[in-house]
Amino acid sequence: ALILAIETSCDETSVAIVESGTIIRSNIVSSQVATHQRFGGVVPEVASRKHVESITWIIEEAFEKAGVRPSELSAIAVTEGPGLIGALLVGVVAAKALAYSLDLPLIGVHHIAGHIYANRLVHQLEYPLVSLVVSGGHTELVYVESEGRFRIIGQTRDDAAGEAYDKVARALKLPYPGGPHVDRLAHEAAEALPLPRAWLEPDSYDFSFSGLKSAVLAALNSAAMKGQPLEPQAVAKGFQDSVTDVLVEKSLRAVRAYGAKQLLLAGGVAANRGLRERLAARCAEAEVPLLAPPLGLCTDNAAMIAAAAFLKLERNQFSSLELKAEPMLKLEAWSV
Ligand code: ATP
Ligand code: MG
Ligand code: FE
Repeated sequence: ALILAIETSCDETSVAIVESGTIIRSNIVSSQVATHQRFGGVVPEVASRKHVESITWIIEEAFEKAGVRPSELSAIAVTEGPGLIGALLVGVVAAKALAYSLDLPLIGVHHIAGHIYANRLVHQLEYPLVSLVVSGGHTELVYVESEGRFRIIGQTRDDAAGEAYDKVARALKLPYPGGPHVDRLAHEAAEALPLPRAWLEPDSYDFSFSGLKSAVLAALNSAAMKGQPLEPQAVAKGFQDSVTDVLVEKSLRAVRAYGAKQLLLAGGVAANRGLRERLAARCAEAEVPLLAPPLGLCTDNAAMIAAAAFLKLERNQFSSLELKAEPMLKLEAWSV
């Protein structure tokens, strides 16, 4: 079965054609990073307009690259939420038009389910599993009891991990999005600036990064005031160590507590080298199988949306043509 999926929840316009939920026939991703960079972040209205400009040719390119004709498709999938309302709408309207005109079933997909199921494009999953989702807007520990059944067991109480990365990057005067730049600086560091870790209550799987971000800003300011600026590499490493320490330890605790057979890494920050290295080392020690998508499937793409949509296709769970963009869609509510 071939699914054509559309992803427009934020600042990537992406269309993919995926076979049987696992074989990527095409996965075209057009990033708007260059457009938003001069504003230091994503400007919602600009993102919507860019999606409108590119969606049609990206759909055409996805067909062409895959060597697939519209009549060969089994379903049309689209990210229905969460995300920016205007951006989501472009994908949802395009998907409905395709589903209606080709007389195909429509499948609305939760963006975070997509990030998690990006792993299914490259790995064999075993349940129950725990997924650490770290992205621009989300930081969550998700218990996946069986295929497509999600329960959020912990989440950030303030900033998402990616958001914290981007804010610290801005303080270090690095270009947007700053995550990869902080990652690179951290790897060049000889030593780390000592920074606090937000463990919260001993039994909590929640996260908090805003205090850490404030600590970084305070350290940068006081050092500048004394005329002894901090080395950016040391700041980046101190920040990255603090973030990864908490993410890794809480993930491993969740794996043990829930008897998970695998730990899945998901979301844009899953591309972080420091996080991947530390997780790999700790999981090897604890003999926990760790799965992560290849770097290109960590950040937003439509292949992951097709992978998640396949769960619904197998169960004949379709959306109606009334499907709405849901900027605050809940993951649990999307379970199969
Ligand atoms: P969400 O998925 O929560 O809706 P999003 O789709 O905007 O948010 P993603 O595309 O999944 O987010 O991830 C983008 C985020 O990942 C950005 O904050 C970016 O800085 C961060 N990121 C990307 N690569 C790295 C890296 N190597 N290290 C740290 N952060 C990174
Ligand atoms: Mg993005
Ligand atoms: Fe995302």
